[in-house]
This record gives sequence, C-alpha cells and structure tokens, in this order.
Amino acid sequence: MPTEFEVLAKVPTGLFIGGSWVDGHGEGRIAVEDPATGKTLLEIANANAEDGLAALAAADAAQAKWGKTSPRERAEILRRTFELVRERSEEFAMLISLEMGKPIAEARGEVTYGNEFVRWFSEEAVRIGGRYGSLPEGHGRMLITKRPVGPAFAITPWNFPLAMATRKIGPAIAAGCTMVVKPAELTPLTTLLFVKTLEEAGLPAGVINVITTSTSAATSGPIISDARLRKITFTGSTQVGRQLLKQSADRILRTSMELGGNAPFLVFEDANLDAAVDGAMLAKLRNIGQACTAANRFIVHEKVADEFATKLAARMGALNLGRGIEAATTMGPVINEKARANMQRLVDTTVKEGGEIVTGGEYGAGDGYFFKPTVLANVRPGSTILGEEIFGPIAPIVRFKTESEAVALANDTEYGLVSYAFTEDFKRGMRLTESLETGMTGLNTGLVSNAAAPFGGVKESGMGREGGTEGIEEYLETKYVMIPATEAAD
Ligand code: NAD
Repeated sequence: MPTEFEVLAKVPTGLFIGGSWVDGHGEGRIAVEDPATGKTLLEIANANAEDGLAALAAADAAQAKWGKTSPRERAEILRRTFELVRERSEEFAMLISLEMGKPIAEARGEVTYGNEFVRWFSEEAVRIGGRYGSLPEGHGRMLITKRPVGPAFAITPWNFPLAMATRKIGPAIAAGCTMVVKPAELTPLTTLLFVKTLEEAGLPAGVINVITTSTSAATSGPIISDARLRKITFTGSTQVGRQLLKQSADRILRTSMELGGNAPFLVFEDANLDAAVDGAMLAKLRNIGQACTAANRFIVHEKVADEFATKLAARMGALNLGRGIEAATTMGPVINEKARANMQRLVDTTVKEGGEIVTGGEYGAGDGYFFKPTVLANVRPGSTILGEEIFGPIAPIVRFKTESEAVALANDTEYGLVSYAFTEDFKRGMRLTESLETGMTGLNTGLVSNAAAPFGGVKESGMGREGGTEGIEEYLETKYVMIPATEAAD
C-alpha cells in the first residue's frame, strides 16, 4: 500500500480548464480536511464565477468536435481509464479513505464499484442505437437517431468521491457530451486524481473540466443561466436539488436529479433473521450510514423485533472506530462536527419521544468526528427521526403487526429512492416489489447498487437514472427525420 504522503503528492491542486491545470480566482484556497483527525490534508484552488464560466466556455468550445468523434474512440479512452484506475486502485482507495473517512476495505469497494461505471460506459458507447420504420399511413419513413445533448454541468456530493463522479463522467464521455464537473468541497481530491487519469488516458482538452469552489451557489448560478449549457446532472440533497430545478426551469435545461432518501428496511416474521441482520449491517453502515441508499427506518414484525434489535446491536456495538486507513478500523467518523451534532440531536429527540437506546447513542473517543454505532428500539411511529434523512450510523426500529401496516409505514415519506424487504414468502416478496413506492427494492439483500442496473428514485428522491442501459440516455437527445415515400418514375 502506498503511504498517505505518496498519494497526496499525486493529486493535482488546481482547476482543470481546457486541458490545463490552473489556479482559481476565488478567495484563498480550500483546505480539505481528514474527518478522522480534523487536520488539513491538502489545500486546493478555489474557483469563482469567472472560473466557472471559463470552464463552461472550454466545454462549449470542445463540444462540436467531441460530439463527432467515433463511438469506438470514446470507448477506448474510457477503457484505458478503467485500466489505469484498476492499476492504481490502492492509491484511489487510500485517497477516498483519507478525505471521506470510510474504512480502507470499503474504499477499495468504492474503487471497484466506481470504476465499473467507467468500464460499463466504455461498452455502452458503441451501442447507441436508433431505428427505422414505416409511418402507419405508409406515406413516409421515420429515421430515429440519437445525438449528444451538449455541454453538461455535473454537481456531486461528498459521500462517494469516486463513484458519484464516474456515474456522470462515464456516460457523458460515452455519449459525446462535454462537461464541467463541480465536486463537493468536502471531498474533491478523488475527482481531481480521476480527471488527471482521464487526461493520461488521452481525453482531449476541454471535454471534462473541473472546478472546485467554496462558493457553490455563486459559482454555479452563472453556469446554469448561460445559454451554452444544455444539461445539469446533480447528486445531493433534495433541498439543493429543488433549488437547482427552479434555476434550470428558466432555461428549460435537461435535468437528472439523484436526491435524498429515507429507505425503509422491512423484516417480516418469516424472514431469515441472520440474513436480515447481515443485510442491515450493509444497508445501514456502508459509508458510516452516509449513503442515499442507507436504511433509515427498520420496520420489524413485533414477533421478531426484540431478537432483531439484540442481534443488530451486538454486531454494531462490536465495530472498531478509527481512522479508515488503519487496518483495525471497521467504522470511520462522520464527515464533520455538524453531522455529528445532528446524530446526537436525533438520538436525544428519539429518546424524548419514547424510543430506547440499545447500543451507542453518544460521541466516540478521539480527535475525529466519531459517533458510536447506535440502535434505537421501540421507536414510536411518527417520531422525528423517521421523517428525516439520518445520514449516519443510527438504526431506529419500529414494530408492526400486519403486512399492510408495514407497507403503509414504509411509504409514509416524501422520498422514494430504495426499499429493502426480508421475507422467505415468495408471494409476499413479489407483492412488496409492487407496493413499495421506490425506484429500487432489495429483496432479501442490503445492497442494490450495480453499474449495469438503473439507479434512481421516485417522488422527491429525484428523476432520471444512472447506470444500466438507461444511464447513457440521460446524455442523449432523440432526433426524428421524416422521409416521404417515393416511387420510381419508370
Ligand atoms: P448537498 O446537497 O449539500 O451538496 C451536494 C453538492 O451540491 C455539493 O457539491 C455542494 O457543494 C453543491 N451545492 C450545494 N448548494 C448548492 C447550490 N446552491 N448551487 C450549486 N451547488 C450547490 O449534499 P451533500 O451533503 O453533499 O450529500 C448528501 C446528500 O446527497 C444526501 O441527501 C444524500 O441522500 C444525497 N445523495 C443522493 C444520491 C443518489 O444517488 N440519490 C447519492 C449520494 C448522495
């Protein structure tokens, strides 16, 4: 494994605009912190609105030529990038763990998962289809083709620093779109290293441009209102997504929104309880609970609720809190003090509202933002915690008696990203896949994400899909050509 200093030395610290690494014109530099120690890892360039527009100008200038490159050429750049990231997977894993805090084993998992989007879209680039057909009346033919949408703006969150970037950059490159990428200010380093890798793989100047900024709204606003931009793709909170949709409405931009979640995790009386606990560990604690797909509400049949709580608490209570890059660590810190204080507020409020702490419920030791993995039992329906996206290592358990009560509880949210259900009854499982109002369901599993599958939500969890055969469509426009039928003159 490389040392942390070796890895940090490889990260470019500028903005990437038109194929050059340049300094920003924003105030000062951005200090990127290690959430396990509170210390600065690196200082990087800070973009202002002028830099944002320079990045858009570079994307716009590159679009016409890039849109005409052959699909095979775009595919091969992605494939070379995939190989380079694979060769450097330990460096990427170390960097993800340093800036985001997740244990190194999980960071390795993110490298594999995130890089899979690069491979998947290298394969999709050459499969952009079209169709040809006869009009029903027979007087003409229709030719339907796909074209790149045009310059896109990608805004990503801090929780999966590689995967959230590759899910957008991969399909944009494959479809022939240029892009400005704005990673989250809390974890921008992995995106910078990834884009340097794209450059090494032969990506032409201006196709992908990166701006890092401490003034997201002020730097993004002028990009979104500029006539050269054709698309915005955002992953982050519903609150910010709503704001971006309002801004996009003025220019009728194509939009893809991957927003917040409040995933229900249902455990029926006929479930394999050990499998449900394994699934819960994954669905709750992947990324220290800071995933849009994190199980937010455990809805458990009253006959098995106590046993489930005891088993889950034993597993969660045994985790080792520490710095992600240390081998003994099985659980990292949350991202910052604000997030940690929010965990304490949620626990205290739940207890006031009648819930009980089975394990955890307080800050962990050390300089980082550690919060002990927490199980809360007998949480009352209607409790505050059930209506909020927790985004941390707290598992609230609510009891139910009947399947319809469980489904009603599960659907009682404005979110609709993912749901999980554990049951050994096949017919019930099939019913649940249809009655749970979410874009994705994990049936007897706590992990659904896969580059080959369409990831996304319904209701206020967003619109559009990333990954799968649907993922590239977000970056393509449909063009229809009408050709009148003719007859030979002879
Ligand atoms: P966030 O909404 O605070 O920030 C996301 C990004 O938007 C960051 O890059 C941030 O700098 C930027 N941003 C914030 N305000 C902005 C503005 N006014 N204009 C332009 N950009 C702005 O979210 P976060 O805290 O980084 O991430 C956590 C959220 O992301 C959670 O709600 C989580 O559920 C969601 N998320 C969703 C998915 C998904 O695929 N559905 C995946 C990961 C995370």
